[in-house]
Amino acid sequence: SARSSQELIRAEESSLAHNYHPLPVVVARAEGVWVEDVEGRRYLDMLAGYSALNFGHRHPELIAAAHRQLDELTLTSRAFHNDKLAGFAEDLAELTGLDMVLPMNTGAEAVESAIKVARKWAYEVKGVARDQATIVVAADNFHGRTTTIVSFSSDPTAREGFGPFAPGFRVVPYNDLAAMEAAIDETTAAVLIEPIQGEAGVLIPDDGYLRGVRELTRRTGVLFIADEIQSGLGRTGTTLAVDHESVRPDVLTLGKALGGGIVPVSAVVADREVLGVLRPGEHGSTFGGNPLSAAVGTAVVDLLRTGEFQRRAAELGEVLKDGLAALSGKGVVGYRCRGLWAGVDVDPALGTGREVSERLMGEGILVKDTHGSTIRLAPPLTITREELQTSLAALEKVLG
Ligand code: PLP
Repeated sequence: SARSSQELIRAEESSLAHNYHPLPVVVARAEGVWVEDVEGRRYLDMLAGYSALNFGHRHPELIAAAHRQLDELTLTSRAFHNDKLAGFAEDLAELTGLDMVLPMNTGAEAVESAIKVARKWAYEVKGVARDQATIVVAADNFHGRTTTIVSFSSDPTAREGFGPFAPGFRVVPYNDLAAMEAAIDETTAAVLIEPIQGEAGVLIPDDGYLRGVRELTRRTGVLFIADEIQSGLGRTGTTLAVDHESVRPDVLTLGKALGGGIVPVSAVVADREVLGVLRPGEHGSTFGGNPLSAAVGTAVVDLLRTGEFQRRAAELGEVLKDGLAALSGKGVVGYRCRGLWAGVDVDPALGTGREVSERLMGEGILVKDTHGSTIRLAPPLTITREELQTSLAALEKVLG
C-alpha cells in the first residue's frame, strides 16, 4: 500500500542528503496554482518552485509541447543537430532583444557559463592580461551553489566548509554605484548582479540603479551580466526585470521558468561580440539544448510573447501590494513587492519565517522563508484575484 506523508518524510530523512529542510508536506499531484498531498489535502502554491512555475503546474500548452516532443525525439547531445534547437534560440533571442543563445540546464550552470564567457571576452576582446580577469558582484547575491559561485557569496552558510575559493571576484554593496565604480579597473571583465535580489528577500534597488550600472559598464568597457534566473520571464510584470528601467544588459542568464516547470532549461543570452568568443570544445553540456528542453522552451517563449502573463503579474501585483500595505503594522514590519513577487518581513516577535510558513501551511497556503523573519510570495502568474486574496487573508490570520 502507498506510504503516508509521514512515512515518506521519515524515509527521506534516512535516505537523502540533508541539504534542504522542506516544509512537512508531500505533494503528489498538481494543477495550475493548486497542489495536492499524498492524503488528498489541497494547498495553494504561493512559491511556484522559486519561480520555475510562473505558468502554473502543468500548463496545458507546455504539457502538450512536451508530450509531442516525447513522441518524436528526446536527446541527441550536441554531437549532432536536432530540429528544435534553432527555433528555440531564434525565439529566445527575439524575446530578449539579444543575438545569440548558449543553452544549458540549471541556473548555476548558466551563471558559470556566463562567467567563462565574460573572462574569455576580457582576454580576447578587451585585452586583459592572462588569468587576471575580475568580475564585480554584489553582497547578499544568490547565483547558485557551485564551487565558483559560492566563492563570491556573502552568506556564511553557503561558504563555510567549502573552500578553497575561486579568486577573481570583487564584492561590493548592492544598490551602490559609487562602490561599484571604485571596484572596476582595467582587469574587470564584467559586473554580475541580480536586477532584484530574490533570495536576499526580494530586495529592489533604487530607481535608476540598473540604468546607472548600464551607463557605468558602458563607460568603463565592462560587460553587464544580469542574472534574471528568478526575476525574469514575467514575474515582475515585464518580460525581464531590467525592462522596468528600459535597460539592455550585454549578457542575460535565464533559467527556472524557461523550462516551464517540466524540464531544467537555462540559457546565457548575449550579443554576438560576446557569445561569439566560444569555439568548439571550449564549453558544453550533454543535455544542454536537447530537443525536449528546446520544445518546452519554445512553448514558454510562445506564452510570453502573448504578454498575458506579464500583464497579469503587473495587475495582480497591485492587489498583492495593496494587501501587504493593509497588513503593515499588523504583523508585517516591512515588504518589497514588484509584480507578483514579494518579500515580507514579519514581526520577529510573531515567529521566524519558518514558523510563519508552517502556520500558513496549516491554512492551506504554501510559502517559503528566505532569511530570519522574511517570507517570500511568488505565486504562479495564473493565480486569480480571489486566490491571491485568500492567501492574503490567511497571512492576516496567522499574524493576528
Ligand atoms: N541565480 C538566481 C538569481 C537564482 O535565484 C537561482 C536560484 O534560486 C540561481 C541562479 C540558481 O539556479 P539553480 O538552482 O537552477 O542552479
